[in-house]
Amino acid sequence: MAKFITTTLFRRTLQAVLEERKSLPAEALAEFVKLAEKERLPLEKILSREKAIPDNDIYAALADAAGLPFDNLATWQPPDSVPASILPICQRENLLPLKLQEGILTVATANPAGTGAVEGLLSAMGMRPKFVVAPPGPIKKHIDSLLAIAENEDMASGLSDLAVSLDISSATAEEKPVAGRQQQAAPVEISGGSDAPAVIQLVNKTLILGVRQGASDIHVETLEKGTRVRFRLDGVLQTRLELTGQAANSFVSRIMVLAGLDITERILPQDGSFKVTYEGRTVEFRIASMPGLYGQNLTLRLLSGQEHQVITLEGMGLRPDETEVIKRAIKYPHGMMLVSGPTGSGKSTTLYAILETMANPALKMITIEDPVERRIEQVQQIQVRINRNDPERSLTFARGLRTVLRLDPDIIMVGEIRDLETAEIAVQASLTGHLVLSTIHANSSIETLRRLNNIGVDFFLLMASLNLVLAQRLVRRLCAACRVPREPTPEELKLFPAGSRPAQIYEAKGCKRCMGTGYQGRVGMFEFLPITDEIRDHVQEGKLSDGLPVIKQTILRTLRQSGMLLINDGVIDFNELERVVGPCH
Ligand SMILES: [Zn+2]
Repeated sequence: MAKFITTTLFRRTLQAVLEERKSLPAEALAEFVKLAEKERLPLEKILSREKAIPDNDIYAALADAAGLPFDNLATWQPPDSVPASILPICQRENLLPLKLQEGILTVATANPAGTGAVEGLLSAMGMRPKFVVAPPGPIKKHIDSLLAIAENEDMASGLSDLAVSLDISSATAEEKPVAGRQQQAAPVEISGGSDAPAVIQLVNKTLILGVRQGASDIHVETLEKGTRVRFRLDGVLQTRLELTGQAANSFVSRIMVLAGLDITERILPQDGSFKVTYEGRTVEFRIASMPGLYGQNLTLRLLSGQEHQVITLEGMGLRPDETEVIKRAIKYPHGMMLVSGPTGSGKSTTLYAILETMANPALKMITIEDPVERRIEQVQQIQVRINRNDPERSLTFARGLRTVLRLDPDIIMVGEIRDLETAEIAVQASLTGHLVLSTIHANSSIETLRRLNNIGVDFFLLMASLNLVLAQRLVRRLCAACRVPREPTPEELKLFPAGSRPAQIYEAKGCKRCMGTGYQGRVGMFEFLPITDEIRDHVQEGKLSDGLPVIKQTILRTLRQSGMLLINDGVIDFNELERVVGPCH
């Protein structure tokens, strides 16, 4: 094949272009040029490092100097046509492939002076490169996501291949339970390597894939026809693997053995856990097993070990007026704050963010949790422990709370209020000078009050103690790479408040980056109900119904209204809102 080599000849120097564009004062530019010569670095790198002007301006000028087009990559999408085989070269040479058309590969580079060598490499692979200039930051970010996509695809197809080979070579890897092993002390080092027996490889790869794809749980369900493995990603289950026969049994047994569970138990549920270390990261898997009609059903919960990552109120996506309500509520030295929602609605994340906001060496803060999901500095954290053999020796929320009160804390976080006893102690504590934070299973702020009323809490005392009730949900964000704009229908427009009706909303499509789902990541919807004196005045007789009109007026915005704002912002679509809060029409 004929070599196709054109070296980029700079038409002008970067300095000349910047001078002409008056991007920065001439004296300043002269200083940076001197600095670049002294450090023997390209001028663009010095300007970027010293934050002289934005990277986009630097690299647009550099493109101009080199006579190449510029692309800031703001609308970049993973290309469909680019072969994975060129990704390693791209990674090494800091190139981002943009598209491949009729043998011409368009690539973005931040180093137009170095295109000659790259051209040689790519033309050896039968591709003629065409260069555009882009800032190095987005190039690096996008090439990383291309590599992640390629590895995920590799792994997902590797899983099915392994599963097929397992089925043929059945009965090779029956696992025996290990007597007396209750807890796995040291993390198990796992890899997707191929020297282990097939079933072990398959389990390892499944666990790795779960970690990499960011699954919150892995469900292994034994059904009539075989075993199905599903990942919960952004709150929704997706099937990853289906196994039959001996392969299915071996897969389930292997996980149970890892978790120290008895694989011969056919009646009772069991709990266990194991830790795995993968690429230097330790992830804990908590396993709950439940024997079903056709065999064991396992739920593996992934505790990602990102315990030191600080969550802030701002980082949770609260709107400014919502952050204000929380900040006002935590200024009270006593009282109770409740966060409500179903499982997986992000309640504990909210509580952690509030605790992080309040953490202060002048305050004593204690939590009682099940499980402790995240460590917080300056906070004493206690784990609830249930002793099935001897309930008297269990540390329940109620018992923990009673014990904790003797330690004279200022702020107490109780993982969850599930029963009257815990609720009553929490109310008492908050009325006697403690600030109590907790969560409760309820669908809305009003449902929270109703629920506590129904389990028998003294309603008058409850309302006296409460500062704030917050209901929340997590909804899936639209994938920014593939969301599709459209005009809202007349019916949809009516759902928006007059005066803030969007001309355009978005819906999900699906691309490589979001694994075809159309969604990526999650965002919260919040319903804030600050308990005001006005509300307390209305429920003095201890009846929720008397207070409902005022309560409804006091709610900052309902979950649905919160979701409509997100639709307006182009962050979520109607389907997702309806999936979580029910039909809109
Ligand atoms: Zn997408």
